[in-house]
Amino acid sequence: MLKDIIRTIPDYPKPGILFRDITTLLADGAAFKQAVLELTSPWTDARIGKVVGIEARGFIVGAAVAHALGTGFVPIRKRGKLPYDTVSVSYALEYGTDTIEVHRDAVHAGERVLLIDDLIATGGTALAAVSLLHSLQAEVVGAGFVIDLPDLGGASALRDAGVTVHSLVEFPGH
Ligand code: AMP
Repeated sequence: MLKDIIRTIPDYPKPGILFRDITTLLADGAAFKQAVLELTSPWTDARIGKVVGIEARGFIVGAAVAHALGTGFVPIRKRGKLPYDTVSVSYALEYGTDTIEVHRDAVHAGERVLLIDDLIATGGTALAAVSLLHSLQAEVVGAGFVIDLPDLGGASALRDAGVTVHSLVEFPGH
């Protein structure tokens, strides 16, 4: 089971957090292959134009999904990392704000995109990514996550925003 191969580190990066570590899944060829297949299969006939991955673990999984779908891959990065013209959006964290960016020519108006990250918790990051992609007039058809923490409400918030969400593994609590 995919769930069994995800390592949980208590109190990382700070007390009270149960960090869900996918490096153990990525290091196992059969598990990585299964995860990519399961993330890809809902979208094979969805005419996806680009897969968009969120820094950093979303790059690893998202690029594999893009390759499997035969689409291009687009990185969404933290502020200041992308070399060309960007659009950006800031979003609230528990303390302070964060900013993510994408190249302004990375997706085109009306393009059907699939968003991928390793994990959805509160959904703050994914909702910010959706608004970034909407600012470029892309159509965010769906989002895929290896892990959903459903009690934190991110997946339902994303569904409320009109995005179809598929995740592979759920952990109750946080
Ligand atoms: P959120 O914006 O709250 O949905 O958080 C999602 C982002 O934070 C993802 O990019 C995750 O990689 C990371 N993240 C949040 N909570 C955890 C956790 N418990 N374990 C591992 N990564 C997490």
